[in-house]
Amino acid sequence: MTSTLETVQKNIVSAANNASRSPGDISLIAVSKTKPPEAIRPLLDAGQRTFGENKVQEAAAKWPPLRQEYGGVELHLIGPLQSNKVRQAVQLFDVIETLDRPKLARAIARICNEESKTVTCYIQVNIGREAQKAGIDPNALDGFVALCRDELMLPVAGLMCIPPSGCDPAPYFIMLKEMAERHGFEKLSMGMSSDYMTAIACGATSVRVGTALFGTREGRP
Ligand SMILES: *Cc1c(COP(=O)(O)O)cnc(C)c1O
Repeated sequence: MTSTLETVQKNIVSAANNASRSPGDISLIAVSKTKPPEAIRPLLDAGQRTFGENKVQEAAAKWPPLRQEYGGVELHLIGPLQSNKVRQAVQLFDVIETLDRPKLARAIARICNEESKTVTCYIQVNIGREAQKAGIDPNALDGFVALCRDELMLPVAGLMCIPPSGCDPAPYFIMLKEMAERHGFEKLSMGMSSDYMTAIACGATSVRVGTALFGTREGRP
């Protein structure tokens, strides 16, 4: 039942070894979006604790009961966040990986204060500068980091990206790593089912894997 988890874990270890990195420095985010609790439980039973969801409503329905059953769950928001859902997101998630605009940064800072809760953030970078993709434009990153980290004092751990599809992701991963180093960020969330081993070779500290663990999703991405 958890053979996919074992396979992905083994692949992470070998990608880390190939890159002379410690496998313990790479965390697996199991992307459980669209999957029902029955599909998620086998991974929880096998010890997986870090999960990613891309919709606040869906996470709100699924995860509070699962958190009651299993201790130590760490939930990451990996989908776009609307300002009017920030409070719910702050209550539900441990990590918000899709911080990508000033209005959202201000809302997260204000609501974390009101809720007396800290939520680790990643800044999402639109690394391929694609019109249809979320993320801050690379040219605006310096100013945005200054706002988030220095002015609003948000706990920004690192950067996240989704490279353009249909081409070699490695140059984009390397660009993201360079941006992170420039700003002193240690964490890099990059790599999905099709390219997580490449991402690890390029410095990913967490990989977001859905399909390779749960099988294909129907209906929506
Ligand atoms: C769906 C999703 C993933 C996982 O994609 P797979 O190809 O199924 O591994 C990773 N990151 C983000 C932001 C996603 O929306």
